Amino acid sequence: MGGPPARGRFGEYGGRYAPESLVEACREVGEAFREAWADPGFRGALARLLAVHAGRPTPLTPALRLSEELGVRLYLKREDLTHTGSHKINNVLGQALLATRMGRRRLIAETGAGQHGVATATAAALLGLEATVFMGERDIERQALNVFRMRMLGAEVVPVTTGSRTLKDATSEAMRHWVGATGDSHYCIGSVVGPDPYPWMVRELQRVIGDEARAQCAAELRTGVPDHVVACVGGGSNAAGTFAGFADTPARLVGVEAEGGAGAARGRLGVLHGCRSLFLQDGDGQITQAHSIAAGLDYPGVGPEHAHLRDLGRARYVTVTDDEAVRAAVRLARTEGIVPALESAHALAWVIRAADDGDLPAGSTVLMTLSGRGDKDVSTLKELL
Ligand SMILES: *Cc1c(COP(=O)(O)O)cnc(C)c1O
Repeated sequence: MGGPPARGRFGEYGGRYAPESLVEACREVGEAFREAWADPGFRGALARLLAVHAGRPTPLTPALRLSEELGVRLYLKREDLTHTGSHKINNVLGQALLATRMGRRRLIAETGAGQHGVATATAAALLGLEATVFMGERDIERQALNVFRMRMLGAEVVPVTTGSRTLKDATSEAMRHWVGATGDSHYCIGSVVGPDPYPWMVRELQRVIGDEARAQCAAELRTGVPDHVVACVGGGSNAAGTFAGFADTPARLVGVEAEGGAGAARGRLGVLHGCRSLFLQDGDGQITQAHSIAAGLDYPGVGPEHAHLRDLGRARYVTVTDDEAVRAAVRLARTEGIVPALESAHALAWVIRAADDGDLPAGSTVLMTLSGRGDKDVSTLKELL
């Protein structure tokens, strides 16, 4: 979880499985990012954007009443308090700044529920770039409000009518479109997935979560380091960024997936979107559709570094049902006055279950990344409660 992986590989995972022209474009992005990341000028400019536009650093909140009930000491890293309401802004501001440095005028992005699309449109507007966002036709129907947000921010939203007309197809379409536009456009991937360098570049851009949390834990906890570090996993970017801050500590790392999107816990080796990793597949090796109440966890695979951390036993991956996540969201609302995103509620649901069944011993300290706020999910919750 340090620098770039050798030859773009995390163990047997990762790589660059793409058409020749994209392999070249990815090589350029990797080279430019490596240079930028070593340049204090770039780091300083990004840190300033994160501070004055995104609202960093985010607080570490002790969840006092819930901790009392659970018999553990739970601390929440508050990515829900960032501008646009989730950790996604950390990644898109970094990539937008990189695109500017590379002389690109336009960002291309894929989006499922629209969260990454809105974040990309936001970063593009801030830096005076154009944004083209690919979105499945079915998702466009289901997420009308986010489509409107993107258009209001000046982005073009392109409906994708192929396949299941959801995120997987939008990603394929965005990559296809990039082939013809690599000269003036940067493809801004939303998680630690896709061809090298995206998995480690996005992890580096999200490690601000883990680095801040590490320093905050050092100041707040008697032991300095929490016993457990927990985050939800869709593609795995908020978890990868969080884990990176604790890689060299004895903290136990736990990634929580949706029962219906458990790439790390239940996937098999495959290749999708330019990357070798673990994916949900049917008997014929076809990648299957993920299903989760949390749109951000609705991805049939997981980033290659998580697959590798699982093999190494450095991190463990567990699953939570829709129902458990909904109950956890309500419990956090009523004990702490925080309505979490349903994605983040998955991480909390595991903490609650593990505290109840002794998997988390009484008195353990737990750092959990609260990846986003629940405003986007209130209509879903309203149907259920
Ligand atoms: C998109 C999203 C996720 C899942 O993405 P990761 O790359 O796994 O972090 C989790 N939480 C929220 C709030 C999201 O918007």
